Amino acid sequence: MADRSYLDWPFFEPRHRELAASLEAWCKANLPVDHADVNAACVSLVRMLGKSGWLRHSGADAGETLDVRTLCLIRETMAGYDGLAEFAFAMQGLGMGAVSLFGTPEQRLWLEKTRSGAAIAAFALTEPEAGSDVAAIATTATPALGGYVLKGEKTYISNGGIADIYLVLARTGEAPGAKGLSAFLVPATSPGLEIVQSIDVIAPHPLALIRFTDVAVPRAALVGKPGDGFKICMSVLDIFRSTVGAAALGFARRALDETLRRVKARKAAGTPLAELQMVQGHIADMALEIDAAALLVYRAAWKKDSGAARISREAAMAKLFATEAAGRTIDMAVQLHGGDGVRSGMVVERLYREIRALRIYEGASDVQRLIIARSELS
Ligand SMILES: Cc1cc2nc3c(=O)[nH]c(=O)nc-3n(C[C@H](O)[C@H](O)[C@H](O)COP(=O)(O)OP(=O)(O)OC[C@H]3O[C@@H](n4cnc5c(N)ncnc54)[C@H](O)[C@@H]3O)c2cc1C
Repeated sequence: MADRSYLDWPFFEPRHRELAASLEAWCKANLPVDHADVNAACVSLVRMLGKSGWLRHSGADAGETLDVRTLCLIRETMAGYDGLAEFAFAMQGLGMGAVSLFGTPEQRLWLEKTRSGAAIAAFALTEPEAGSDVAAIATTATPALGGYVLKGEKTYISNGGIADIYLVLARTGEAPGAKGLSAFLVPATSPGLEIVQSIDVIAPHPLALIRFTDVAVPRAALVGKPGDGFKICMSVLDIFRSTVGAAALGFARRALDETLRRVKARKAAGTPLAELQMVQGHIADMALEIDAAALLVYRAAWKKDSGAARISREAAMAKLFATEAAGRTIDMAVQLHGGDGVRSGMVVERLYREIRALRIYEGASDVQRLIIARSELS
């Protein structure tokens, strides 16, 4: 197995090391689950993660903060065993992130349900004509009858179709662009909320296009203040972008573990692949990319947990580097597995498909570059 001494780094406290050890044991005993029906698998994973107590870490009570190192360790560890389990955990946190940070006592009742595994959460920002450019969001929330009426479409919504509660960003029009958006908590049972289409992707998970046709929500559904939706969502992404980097790290570590086993066992010209210097060079590069990614991920998480109000620069660096580096590491793992690397059912083949979307969602790699450059130039 690849080196795991990073847990000794000063970024962590004893409670993090204890959590990582007990989660590792839990994952070994319970994962992976059968993915034949991804929607059913995700529902069952949420229930399992709730029952086992891991989802308690996906939200924060009023006056508390989300512990980003804990979120990262959980995503990293689960990613090494089962990408769908990692996804199920992450979405409970992301979907309810705005409520953890800014929710009213009434909205926090949903958080209780998502943290126990009784309810499933989703985060709905992206639209057919507004992805990277969040300021172009066209879904409207018009004040009416003591609340709002939502109209529009959201696409690529993870957990779309199985979620019980959606955090939706919609235009309330206080100002042009990003300053005229507000965040709403919308139950899946709301009349007018419709799953238009399931979306198939290379690493299947619940994903859908959702339509809101005159969906009425009470004023109490508004998270934070009118016009603060963009700011709220960026605060949530500030936390969860580092955790995307952590998930990438988990996939990359698994790829290295698989590769170490493979190159020791597989022979070429009478010698194990592991004894060929060019193979050793690739192993060194994989280990180096993993450690560099881990340093950036846990630096960002530690900084947030140490009280920094925003960590946009550090989170962007963590997400950008860790997801790109994991892509390179897994690609090399496939290469070193030879033909078996691209064979359906092989772990590295699955990792190769699973890592790709992480460079796109929650801000594509070039969007992270823009955030870093703006911070350097300011
Ligand atoms: C598997 C998966 C799960 C997802 N889950 C969710 C979810 O749960 N909730 C949700 O709201 N969304 C979700 N998304 C959507 C995701 O966040 C968007 O796909 C992403 O933000 C990119 O938007 P887009 O697809 O519209 O691409 P576009 O905005 O069209 O961008 C395409 C490419 O153009 C380039 N680009 C765009 N803007 C810039 C710029 N300003 N500067 C430089 N280059 C730029 C980048 O290379 C980018 O990759 C998910 C997507 C995937 C693939």
